[in-house]
Amino acid sequence: MNRQIYLDNAATTKINEEVLNAMLPHFTQTYANPSAIYTFAGEAKKAVDTARTQTAALINAAPEELYFTSGGTESDNWAIKAVAEAYREKGRHIITTKIEHHAVLHTCQYLEKQGCEVTYLDVDETGAISLDALQSAIRPDTVLISVMTANNEIGTIEPIAQIGAIAHEHGVLFHTDAVQAYGHLALDVEAMHIDLLSASAHKLNGPKGVGFLYVRKGIKLPPLLHGGAQERNRRAGTLNVAGIAGFGKAAELAAAHMEEKAARETALRDHLITRILSEIPYCRLNGHPTDRLSNNANFCFRFIEGESLLILLDQLGICASSGSACTSGALEPSHVLLAIGLPHEIAHGSLRLTLSDETTQEELDFVVDELKKIVDRLRVMSPLYEDFMKNGR
Ligand code: PLP
Repeated sequence: MNRQIYLDNAATTKINEEVLNAMLPHFTQTYANPSAIYTFAGEAKKAVDTARTQTAALINAAPEELYFTSGGTESDNWAIKAVAEAYREKGRHIITTKIEHHAVLHTCQYLEKQGCEVTYLDVDETGAISLDALQSAIRPDTVLISVMTANNEIGTIEPIAQIGAIAHEHGVLFHTDAVQAYGHLALDVEAMHIDLLSASAHKLNGPKGVGFLYVRKGIKLPPLLHGGAQERNRRAGTLNVAGIAGFGKAAELAAAHMEEKAARETALRDHLITRILSEIPYCRLNGHPTDRLSNNANFCFRFIEGESLLILLDQLGICASSGSACTSGALEPSHVLLAIGLPHEIAHGSLRLTLSDETTQEELDFVVDELKKIVDRLRVMSPLYEDFMKNGR
């Protein structure tokens, strides 16, 4: 069997051993429902309280401003739908960007069908929004600005503190989808003027299916899910105690190792980028050259399809991703790559490699050596490449 090289850490991460150990007792020992009043429920309750403190500390929030959810998708849905509902009297206009995750974009499209108006801001060729364009888009009836902290495909980090300052100057609420950034970048909801923030445990070596929504004290936020009185009547459903305990441990570990992990990943990422750009012709780096997540490298290779690349990499045990999505049987290029201005034929040839703290330079060198051969092989079969070589176009 081939070795396995996992370079899809933006999709999900491996659970850290310490995280797993923090979760295990809650399955078979301290398994009581934390809402119960008997003493046996005390340990479960305590685990949730500890995790709330650990996860809140990472964004400088108060623990009671956090509501545990089933992950980033639920948090994004809740933040946007609830603000639209609660602030309906003030207005029905929302501002977001063209490069958000579908958890935000599809929620906004749903709200448009309910009578909201949504402005989707453009981004420049690096994936950054324009603060001037944001200022101009704000209207008296704008109730929410939702801009992601860092993009999941191309890794670009948005100017979150400035966006928050602009939102607050205009009395508009600011939500950020920090699913890719939480635990990887220093975030501070006070300094960055953030009112609502979505995070998800499985992007920082925590378990899948658990996240939180941070809601600044004083903000009206009707529940998304109706039922029991959990999470101070705002998010019904028996708490996922093991998942929440794991999330807390993952946040604690992320806080302790954030800087050294980012420095190590940045060095490896830059080595990867330098080798690919210098050794493979007709390829480009997508996203911002420096204001990008430390573990993200995203490329387009001209004359080939990202999916073919993925299949051949998979045959070597290399897990990577491409931005394209299969919509009704046809491959659609990533909306993010189109938004940064790439033509369809170039956007189709994308490859995202996302590192972890376990990635080694030896693995990356192996990937680049193999990628060079794969790209050559695919180009030899490409009529577009043949045409380009013959006619220079
Ligand atoms: N937002 C962003 C930016 C993401 O990258 C993801 C997951 O890939 C999500 C939201 C959805 O998070 P979850 O998988 O926890 O539902």
